[in-house]
Amino acid sequence: MEGQLLGDRYRLVRQLGEGGMGEVWEARDEKLDRQVAVKVISLLAGREGRGDEARARFLREARITGRLQHPYIVSVHDLGESDTQRGTVPFLVMELVRGEGLDVKLREGSVDLAEAARWGAQICDALGDAHAHGIMHRDIKPSNILVTPSGTVKVLDFGVARAADPYATADRLTQTGFIVGTPPYMAPEQARGHPEPRSDLYALGCLLFELVTGRLPFQAPDSVGYLTAHLSQQPPAPSSVAAGVPEAWDAVLLRLLRKDPAERYASAADAAQALRRLADAPEPVPAATAPLTKAWPSSSPGGPSPRKPVAPRSWIAIAIWLLITLVAATVTAANIDGAEDGRDVASGAGAVAIATVGLIIWFAVQASGGSSRDGRP
Ligand code: ATP
Ligand code: MG
Repeated sequence: MEGQLLGDRYRLVRQLGEGGMGEVWEARDEKLDRQVAVKVISLLAGREGRGDEARARFLREARITGRLQHPYIVSVHDLGESDTQRGTVPFLVMELVRGEGLDVKLREGSVDLAEAARWGAQICDALGDAHAHGIMHRDIKPSNILVTPSGTVKVLDFGVARAADPYATADRLTQTGFIVGTPPYMAPEQARGHPEPRSDLYALGCLLFELVTGRLPFQAPDSVGYLTAHLSQQPPAPSSVAAGVPEAWDAVLLRLLRKDPAERYASAADAAQALRRLADAPEPVPAATAPLTKAWPSSSPGGPSPRKPVAPRSWIAIAIWLLITLVAATVTAANIDGAEDGRDVASGAGAVAIATVGLIIWFAVQASGGSSRDGRP
């Protein structure tokens, strides 16, 4: 599709990503002479009348969510349909955000607690604004949150999951009863087909749980497993899953993850307030010994292998190695008297070699222990 002109105006430059509904491209708006992002909903592609209704519905719904204007919500500039080899395809033109998705940040493992709390609060601000306009997100998950270079979030795909549901009909639009969303992050009531604004808070709870502990609240082999867990299992306390997560986080995350929406925060604004308190809280005592920056297994299959930072205990091992090396060097230097230099140097070198082998074994054991930690499938 590279080089293709959509809507007589948007020239596709390079593909930025691909999701369940289609692809996202960086494009040049030739009319306004600026870069934009274009989401091509290939899921709704069709020929000669096929899917006309679904596409019309998509445009109608996307027009509503496109009215949202908020610093933490990606702006929608335009909507359109284009004739491609695959038939008529609807597309959505957005502000191009230079930044990284939380899915990428998760894979890199470079998330600290205060940062996660700040992002969480900003996502709540975005949700609060949308909820006030009668719009639910329905698909809060890491790939739908971008973080700009200045460190603020941009929430993507507001309401798009529902708008792009190819199985919905105009008739069913007026009813609840069809399920859209992403199972690992889906609130129990949404899994039952009755999403409400606080379902977004539940999904945010799953996302923040994953950010601070490195794993989702529930592990399951497939979508049915996730939905069953959301419906019937109690999530563990985050502090019991990852060392270094303060107990203050347990209360906030477990409240976001309550099965009954009425037991969650009453509004996104209330959740934002709780998260800002966590962001402003002084660093917990264990943080002095355990780094807040953690690495964990990739949350998406086939992703790059996780980076493992040097843990404090490793520094102790390095310090012991340095001490042995220094003592060996000092003793060897002191013993050099001309008579038995060869043996003195050999025993000094031997001590350093044994310490080095010990250090290598230590790191090997640490590395194998870390890689056996389990992520989600
Ligand atoms: P889904 O189809 O369920 O939303 P997804 O979120 O993984 O799946 P897309 O929404 O298609 O996939 O987005 C793919 C990727 O494109 C995102 O992960 C994001 O990195 C990038 N992207 C999306 N919108 C923009 C944008 N406005 N600016 C910059 N990058 C974007
Ligand atoms: Mg998306």
